[in-house]
Amino acid sequence: TCVYLFRSAAEAGPHDILKLYNPQGSIINISPHLEPNTPNSCYKLEVVAADCNSEALDILCYSGEHYVLCPRLQGLEKKILIEAVETPAIVYEMKRQVESFREKLESVEHLSWLGLFKELSEGTNKPSPFYHKKTLRKTREECEHVREKFLQMSTLEISEEVRQYLKTPTFDNWQWEDAEIMVLLQVMYTDLDFIATFNIEPEVLQQFLYEVYKRYNNIPFHNFRHCFCVTQMMYGLIWLTDLKSKIDSIDLLTLLTSAVCHDLDHTGYNNAYQINARTELALRYNDISPLENHHCAVAFDILEKNENNIFRNLTGDQYKRIREGIIKCILATDMTRHNEILNRFKSILPVFDFSNKDHKDVLMMIMIKVSDISNEARPMDVAEPWLDCLLQEFYNQSDMEKLEGLPVTPFMDRDKVTKPSSQTGFIGFVLLPLFIELANLFPCLEQHIIDPVRKALDYYTEMEKALDREKVNRAQTTCGNMDKHKFSTILNYTVSFAINVYHCKNDKISRKRRTLSSDKNSVKVRR
Ligand SMILES: [Zn+2]
Repeated sequence: TCVYLFRSAAEAGPHDILKLYNPQGSIINISPHLEPNTPNSCYKLEVVAADCNSEALDILCYSGEHYVLCPRLQGLEKKILIEAVETPAIVYEMKRQVESFREKLESVEHLSWLGLFKELSEGTNKPSPFYHKKTLRKTREECEHVREKFLQMSTLEISEEVRQYLKTPTFDNWQWEDAEIMVLLQVMYTDLDFIATFNIEPEVLQQFLYEVYKRYNNIPFHNFRHCFCVTQMMYGLIWLTDLKSKIDSIDLLTLLTSAVCHDLDHTGYNNAYQINARTELALRYNDISPLENHHCAVAFDILEKNENNIFRNLTGDQYKRIREGIIKCILATDMTRHNEILNRFKSILPVFDFSNKDHKDVLMMIMIKVSDISNEARPMDVAEPWLDCLLQEFYNQSDMEKLEGLPVTPFMDRDKVTKPSSQTGFIGFVLLPLFIELANLFPCLEQHIIDPVRKALDYYTEMEKALDREKVNRAQTTCGNMDKHKFSTILNYTVSFAINVYHCKNDKISRKRRTLSSDKNSVKVRR
């Protein structure tokens, strides 16, 4: 309370730092035990204005021993791995301790007792300026809980109905929880015969999937569920196009694993932000696809450990090929390379040859790109919640850019973007042209992915028009000259729009919920 008194007396903000000096010029503690001062020997109060970018907190959070400890521990682990092959339990325990130490350092709420941190978002819509400093990583408890569930369920026999459903682009990701999603990923590796062909031990696949799960962060869009959706679309495309008869199993394994790993450790801020904010990633990768380089590096970091390495029984040459392929695929997901890759694909399409390695490489890049942005090819009630997640992540970034005085990415600005306006441009100029080229090679995709995307475009175009009309009408209303006829038109429109939304919602309610259940040896359907 003492600090608050001084704070309000000095009209200091909640993040400003107060320094109190005694008449001798030494800093003293602000406490109820302060000696009274006299006009001749005054205390001096200094207010250090807080900057959202404040170095003070960074120093508090990131100095100390953590950064020294991490590389030391990594070096030690490597050494032990070389000598002992498997990581001993004691190293895991040490890692756990370092991890929890890091969690404590990265979250800043615990500093509130210092008076340095106060939740800014109280009562206002302002985001916390420390959003990016908050821990995005999953907690150990969360991970272990999911791991246990996953291992329990992993031996279940999955019903034929689910296995077939999993091969279709209409698959609804929202019906499954994380542990179930991991089981479904396991099913994909099994049903594409990877287990048998590459001699992948089930425990290694489970360990790999668990590590992947762990290293997707808790952020609105680029999370583990997005990883699943992209992988599931890739899986669907492989079956729909009968790709097994056209390319070999190493390429198929490359495609599926690239999809699984393609956004590992995404923090919810895109490359433009990384570069403008000069983040560690941008520095490390010299502004060249910092995120995609990182996702890929994390993937191979996971695979470095023998117990996670699903490729450990491959020959040296096979491993080399798969590594090269995964790097190519993941780096291709950088949208700034969109036109370059699409144009390459267009130029080879008339003479496309599945036995030509260059052609195949471009096709694989196109396939992961299609899968990555394929939400709109899904049924409306599956796709629409994803748009809300994406906008939430975008808005977070633009809020941060505003707070940090960085250039604001226009399509992320909550003051400029609406749901339909963000979609019509994206679908019309980016998504459809890409999907159409892939469907040129595989005409069977027309009905499965092009038709739904066209429907989505119509839907958002209508919504955009409705919003524009509403804007015009609102302007007229405020002018006070709206006539009865116009009013009834708007009313009709609003009512029909509401009915549409209502139908959509109703569909969602009546939809069956499925779950892989651990008490039955098959899939349970729940309402
Ligand atoms: Zn992605």
